[in-house]
Amino acid sequence: MVKVFIDPGHGGTDPGAVANGLLEKDITLAIARSLQTALLNQFLNVETRLARTGDQTVSLAERTRAANQWQADFYISVHVNAGGGNGFESYIWNGNFTNKQRTRQIRSAVHQAITSELALRNRGEKEANFHVLRETRMAAVLTENGFIDHHDEAHLMRQVNWIDRVAQAHALGIADAFNLRPKVENVEPSQLYRVVVGAFTDEANARARIQELKEKGYESYLLPYENQEQLFFRVIAGAFRQRENALTQQNKLKNEGFESFILAI
Ligand SMILES: [Zn+2]
Repeated sequence: MVKVFIDPGHGGTDPGAVANGLLEKDITLAIARSLQTALLNQFLNVETRLARTGDQTVSLAERTRAANQWQADFYISVHVNAGGGNGFESYIWNGNFTNKQRTRQIRSAVHQAITSELALRNRGEKEANFHVLRETRMAAVLTENGFIDHHDEAHLMRQVNWIDRVAQAHALGIADAFNLRPKVENVEPSQLYRVVVGAFTDEANARARIQELKEKGYESYLLPYENQEQLFFRVIAGAFRQRENALTQQNKLKNEGFESFILAI
């Protein structure tokens, strides 16, 4: 069993980079949730854990401690970039450590999968002294998936299928690096049925809905999307491979007073 610890960058009181009406913490969570679904749905002998499943504040030390305690085989930290550039880059720790060669191999597999799947400029395979790369006892890679302050890349981040493509590319790279075998009945990435509990033009209203759902015991997250130049925020309370499971979730939500629709992509 290969244990993959997925770290959606930032969260809670730390929004990460903010630009073009988007918060980094929302994009990283959406990619991470989609990556988890892709790995579990498409591959055998893989387990996943998320550093956060919703909009929680989790310190860097808590994230690496959780991965170390779980004895993960791989730590993937998902971010989006800012600062006036464009394109994709990945990082491993710049220190000297025993499994650096193996970490390099894994990173190259992930990096190449992403740069070949996505039409983003390749900024290169880099090294840095980031906490999550340094303090993890397993191979660890951090990805910076486009620039939130770049007009065209922010536009991409508002497309749910782009989020899924980024996640899928991560999954393919991880599968390649760890020789994960595909599930025979589902070699191709499958359609997901997402339960959408409201789409808002006002981000504060979307976050209020997430809070209402939380009070009723439903974890949800925000998925930005763009339609005719207008930015909307969808609240997603579950993503399912089987339509009937999405319908079950929809009925449960209805009994709690939440109207929803199913988004099949
Ligand atoms: Zn970040």
